[in-house]
Amino acid sequence: MAKFIFITGGVVSGLGKGITGSSLGVLLKQSGLKVFMQKFDPYLNIDPGTMNPIEHGEVFVTEDGGETDLDLGHYERFIDENLFKVSSTSAGKAYAEVLDNERHGRYKGKTVQVIPHITNSIKEKVYTAEEISGADIVISEIGGTVGDIESQPFIEAIRQVRMDRGYENVMFIHVALLPYLSVSREYKTKPIQHSVKEMLSLGIQPDVIVTRTVGDIDSKLTEKISLFCNIPTENVIVCPDADTIYRVPLIIEKSNLHKIVAKQLKLNLKNTDMSGWKKFVEDIEKSVEEIKIHIVGKYVELSDAYLSVMESLKIAGYTWHKKVKFVWVNARNLNEKNLLDNLGDAKGILVPGGFGEAGIAGKMLAAKYARENNIPYLGICLGMQIACIEFARNVLNLPEANTTEVDPSTPDPIFDIIIGKNREKIGGTLRLGKYTTKLKKGSLVSELYGGETAVERHRHRYEFNNDYIEKFEQAGMVFSGIYEEKKLIEIVELPNHKFFVGSQYHPEFTSRPNKPNPLFKGFVDAVIKNQ
Ligand code: GLN
Repeated sequence: MAKFIFITGGVVSGLGKGITGSSLGVLLKQSGLKVFMQKFDPYLNIDPGTMNPIEHGEVFVTEDGGETDLDLGHYERFIDENLFKVSSTSAGKAYAEVLDNERHGRYKGKTVQVIPHITNSIKEKVYTAEEISGADIVISEIGGTVGDIESQPFIEAIRQVRMDRGYENVMFIHVALLPYLSVSREYKTKPIQHSVKEMLSLGIQPDVIVTRTVGDIDSKLTEKISLFCNIPTENVIVCPDADTIYRVPLIIEKSNLHKIVAKQLKLNLKNTDMSGWKKFVEDIEKSVEEIKIHIVGKYVELSDAYLSVMESLKIAGYTWHKKVKFVWVNARNLNEKNLLDNLGDAKGILVPGGFGEAGIAGKMLAAKYARENNIPYLGICLGMQIACIEFARNVLNLPEANTTEVDPSTPDPIFDIIIGKNREKIGGTLRLGKYTTKLKKGSLVSELYGGETAVERHRHRYEFNNDYIEKFEQAGMVFSGIYEEKKLIEIVELPNHKFFVGSQYHPEFTSRPNKPNPLFKGFVDAVIKNQ
């Protein structure tokens, strides 16, 4: 049986509950335990798959095709484990399952209620995570802030988990803001006291409070929090803002949170080995010299929309001790006239994934500019499709070439729906999750991956139309990756170019600290050489 740690948030959202939980996960894993992570989101969307990235940030995709919250990306990058669909549950998903059961008569005429039906559905996810992961520890984060109406069923469910499994098996960690008032130059503990009071009113006494502060704090304050919030002083963990999220595990290690957890949950920790992680943080510290990468996207107002892309670029940069600076170019505003103003000094251009027509013309210009001017280019998913369509229009002389996503009646549908036409639903119907790509011998990508295959995650609907393969090849495009079973094109590349690669899959989901995804590593290497 697994032990459970639940992370809740107090006072405000956006405090880094995910980073705190992941950091604890790293420490426990490096102490010899098998760790699994899970996120509960209080919103009513079934999953983030259909949510606007500008509002919600990136949709992270798990190997088994779950469209999940971006926090899962942090979890995977920190604990270096592949998570599953069950790692991401929204209130909407819990309600949908319960209502579906109700419609199928599975409650045998009983009144269906938040308690016990919704709470049971939530608890089931917790226990499923335990079962399928076989982990020693399942760390579950409850999104939002304690006190939100929507999060109440989740808080009630985790209270019940403690009833089910007992104090030795379940622990509550409350991450809360300790605000600093710059006028009176003091920290105020009252908001934390109130949020713990709120927790108590819901039947939960936190075991640990992680205070999020702007800097270090006096021990008098931790003593005060301990007294007012009814926990031992050593269980008040101080977590000041860090220069990089990757330093947080080292901060948490110093606070001994993993040992506090081990003591309460009666876990045997082996010697905690954080040497690999420390080396990674040292690499970050050494990464002073900057390189710029231009990202031409359409959700640039919120960089979280491209979180895994950014982390992958940064991680790749650190391996060469380079700090990657992002230059955001809004594809919606990019045109022939302002092209040079925006991309004139670009040393590397990345066009990320996206949906719909907006910004397509701008992205197309960026791909053309990179191709013609020998500037390293990495096209991800839509960015790969754009590169192919641009090539068809400007090299193959097919001026109306397009994807049927943008122009359903194009005479040259370079991308089209190949599998599963006539879908009615838009949610959860993309080609999702992991597929194995066979890499072409002698290609750049096979060199980068150092082998014959690449296993990567997908999230798209439109596929390269194989009727055009020959024409493209004759004009010099190399199809260097293919999903053999269905003969789907996964990677294109241009030889005789510093670096021009497009992947139909999303390589950004598999970069981990010290282990950048090969495409990102190759791209960043090319950008560095192109300075
Ligand atoms: N809109 C494109 C498709 O569905 C690309 C998707 C993406 O970039 N994730 O095929």
